[in-house]
Amino acid sequence: MSVEEAKYSDVVEWRRDLHAHPELQFDVHRTASLVAARLRDFGCDEVATEIGRTGVVGIIHGKKRTSGRVIGLRADMDALPIEELTGAPWASKTNGVMHACGHDGHTAMLLGAARELAQTREFDGTAAVVFQPAEEGGGGGKAMVDAGLMERFGINEIYAMHTEPGLPIGQFATASGPMAASADGFRIKVEGKGAHGASPHVSVDPLVVGANILLALQTIVSRNVHPRKCAVVTVGFLNGGKAGNVIPQWAEMGGTTRTFDPAVRDLVEARLCAIAEKVAEAYGATAVVRYRRMYPPTVNHARETEFAVSVARTLVGDAKVNDKLEPLMGSEDFAFMLEERPGNIMLIGNGDTASVHDARYDFNDEAIPFGIAYFRNIVERGLPL
Ligand SMILES: [Zn+2]
Ligand SMILES: [Zn+2]
Repeated sequence: MSVEEAKYSDVVEWRRDLHAHPELQFDVHRTASLVAARLRDFGCDEVATEIGRTGVVGIIHGKKRTSGRVIGLRADMDALPIEELTGAPWASKTNGVMHACGHDGHTAMLLGAARELAQTREFDGTAAVVFQPAEEGGGGGKAMVDAGLMERFGINEIYAMHTEPGLPIGQFATASGPMAASADGFRIKVEGKGAHGASPHVSVDPLVVGANILLALQTIVSRNVHPRKCAVVTVGFLNGGKAGNVIPQWAEMGGTTRTFDPAVRDLVEARLCAIAEKVAEAYGATAVVRYRRMYPPTVNHARETEFAVSVARTLVGDAKVNDKLEPLMGSEDFAFMLEERPGNIMLIGNGDTASVHDARYDFNDEAIPFGIAYFRNIVERGLPL
C-alpha cells in the first residue's frame, strides 16, 4: 500500500466491502443504506433517501452560502449480472453478481470526498452528493430526475466520474460535447398475406417486404445523416415463416440505433419509421414500428467541461488530462442528468486492468486519492470563498 493509499485506507476498506456485496439495478438496498449512514456520520446537513426508488442525496453547506449556488456530484451504486473471476480476497460474495464497472469505486470516492467537504466546508454555496441506482439498465438517473432531484436540491450544475481501464493511474480524460452514444431499440412488424409457396401472385410476401425494408434502412446512415456526423442502425434479427413451401402472414425484425447528437437521433427515428411504413405500403403490406427511446446521448457542456479539465490539470498537470477524448459508442445513464443541468463526466485512469464488464475487472484502489481530490476541488474551486 502506498503512502497516499494508506491515508485513504478506510475508503479502500469501504470500496472492498462494496465490491464484496454487489447489488443489481434498483435493488441496491444494502449499498444505499450504508451510503446514507456514512453521510449522516460525516455530519451532512441533510440526507435524503428513496429519491428515484433507492437513490440517496447528501447535502453539505459551505462556510458561506452567499453565492446561493449548488454543485451536484454524482456516483452510481449498482453492479452487473456477471460471475466474478478476479480471485481477489474482496471478490463478490453473491453468485452471478459483481462490480465489473467500478461503481464500487465511484461510490467510495464520492463518500471520501463528502467526508472531506463536510469536515472542511471551505466553499461558498452547497454541495449535493448524489448516489444513483440502476445505471446498468433500468434508467436510475432518469428515475432520480423524474423524482425532482434537480429542483428539490436546487442543483445548478452536476459532475460525475467513470473508471477507465487502459488509462494510467493519475490521469483523466474527457471531451466537450458528445462523450457516449444514445442507445435506442426498435421492432418492425410486417403484415402481408400468406399463401401457398407455389401461388405468390395471391400473396403479399412479408419476407420480401421485410428484406426491402432492411436494405432501405441502410440509407439512413449513408444518405440522410450528415457525412461528418455519425450514427449506427443495426438490424439484429429478421424472422418470419417456418416452411419452405409456405409464404407466411407475418415477418418481424428488430435492432438498435446509436447516435451522439440529439438532432441526429430525432432524424434516425423519423426516417426509420417512415421507411418501414412507406416501403411496406408500396408492396401492399403494412408495417407497425415500435421505436423505444432508452438512453439519450451523453453530451458534456462546454463551460463545465473546461472547468472540470482545469480542476484535473491543477491536480495532476496538463499532460495527464486529455480534453479531446473520442466519444465512446456505449451509453451512460448520467446522460439523463446532463439533459437537465449543465455538467461533465470525467474518465479516471484505472491503470492496465481488464476492461469494464469483464469478469476479471477490478476497480484499482490507487485511483482513490485522485478521485477524492478531483471531486473535492470541483466544489472548492467552483464555489470559491
Ligand atoms: Zn457499465
Ligand atoms: Zn459504469
